[in-house]
Amino acid sequence: MPHELPKAYEPGAIETRWAEYWVREKLFRVETPAPGDSRPVFTLLLPPPNVTGRLHMGHMLNQTQMDIIVRWHRMRGQVTLWLPGTDHAGIATQMMVERQLASEGKKRLELGRERFIERVWEWKRHYGDAILDQMKRLGASVDWGREYFTMDDDLSHAVKEVFVRLYEDGLIYRGKYIVNWCSDCGTAISDLEVKHEDVAGKLYEIRYPVIGGVSGRDEFITVATTRPETMLGDTAVAVNPTDERYTHLHGKHVLLPLMNREIPIIADELAQPEFGTGAVKVTPAHDPNDFEAGLRHNLPQIEVIDEYAKMNANAGPYARLDRFAARTRVVEDLSAQGFLVGTKDYTIALGKCDRSGTIVEPRLSTQWFVKIAPLAKRAIEVVEKGYIRFTPENYGQIYLNWMNNIHDWCISRQLWWGHRIPAWYCTNNECKDVVVAREAPAACKCGSTNLEQDTDVLDTWFSSGLLPFTTLGWPEATRDLEVFYPNSLMITGFDILFFWVARMIMLGCWFMMPPHRPGGSSGSQDDVLRASVPFREVYIHALVRPD
Ligand SMILES: [Zn+2]
Ligand SMILES: [Zn+2]
Repeated sequence: MPHELPKAYEPGAIETRWAEYWVREKLFRVETPAPGDSRPVFTLLLPPPNVTGRLHMGHMLNQTQMDIIVRWHRMRGQVTLWLPGTDHAGIATQMMVERQLASEGKKRLELGRERFIERVWEWKRHYGDAILDQMKRLGASVDWGREYFTMDDDLSHAVKEVFVRLYEDGLIYRGKYIVNWCSDCGTAISDLEVKHEDVAGKLYEIRYPVIGGVSGRDEFITVATTRPETMLGDTAVAVNPTDERYTHLHGKHVLLPLMNREIPIIADELAQPEFGTGAVKVTPAHDPNDFEAGLRHNLPQIEVIDEYAKMNANAGPYARLDRFAARTRVVEDLSAQGFLVGTKDYTIALGKCDRSGTIVEPRLSTQWFVKIAPLAKRAIEVVEKGYIRFTPENYGQIYLNWMNNIHDWCISRQLWWGHRIPAWYCTNNECKDVVVAREAPAACKCGSTNLEQDTDVLDTWFSSGLLPFTTLGWPEATRDLEVFYPNSLMITGFDILFFWVARMIMLGCWFMMPPHRPGGSSGSQDDVLRASVPFREVYIHALVRPD
């Protein structure tokens, strides 16, 4: 019987069959070259799609370029590794499963941590491979035999090892700092996860009466704020030490309106003579700059807004009000009592949570941070010396500008899904020691066996920043690490230049240098540094965006 060709191309019958064949026959598999093998090596890490994802046009732009380059290197006889995997996407996945629970009338907190995490794994088993299945159908020539997931045991082990080593290097600390707080996600978020948007707002000018003003006259200091509800937590008013208008007030106090609290007038650079009246209110618990000024002057930190963005007991009569309802009430009361000098239209660069769109509240909170300066120093050096090159070139300068102005990185997240922080707290009140360890410690140094593990998990980017070396076996001295590190190239979009590319460079240049590089290293200091980079080249491409 003659074989009849269908009139139209029917992909359903053809593509699936061939895609399965390619994977089954392991056509893209790469054996690790043995010592002595002199073939050139080309390594490329697939930016791991989120486990929650489905392929979109942006992925396709990214992956098509990778596939072309990888196939070109493969055809030239090079040992070509394109390494695939997926990211556990902490906050996104947790929200997805919480939504699923909500549809069953259940809540995460009722379930408890352990059962919730089991649910997430169950969800992952069901839906987590969707995006890789799509990649298989499309014939992406990754080595499927090396597929990883960021929550796999070996990768989780490496994440823990990195945390402990950074802690031992004095580069991880825990402290009370101002963080960007999202009251809807219920977690701190990093600066990068805050999107700023210019909106029309108001600038409120408020006058604070000076106690014992000049020769018995009533005297006031006027301050301006866009968030008047935070005044309930003021613990000082600052004037610039060089500002002669206020020299006579140094060392005096004002009476904080509405709260009737005496607070000092401090001389500090926080106040800029040319801005407004030159005097500023200081709210150390709700503003990052005020927080620093507060440390310089030993000011109390009075929190007035809680984790749900409601006023707390410290806000006196405004307690339990939502922050914006409190704003209205505070302004009304200030006006009624004669403390509101004026209200001006003012453009505010409002910070919103990238995920939920909620207005971010700067809030005092105890978090874990990476002391970033020593890591940034190396990450700057390798780019300045040309050990990593950017295409297009201008991204090198954008990267350096950011790296030169970098702040410590808040790495703890108040979530359940992710790598739990390997720190334990002694519950003995006389001790309260913190133990950072690779395994749960049996006892504290005070002898107590009552230790509780930190409930937070790490920022997802903390683990993805390690992938260029953890996917190759770090901290073990594997042959893969020897052969495939540094990766040859990184292909990604500019939206994750700081989130991901910069972190991979900082962490790679730290953990693939002595003393952390397994198997040691040889050559000059420059050779060693050159070999520590996660990749030699970064190619940044455009993004596909909806209109
Ligand atoms: Zn949020
Ligand atoms: Zn103890």
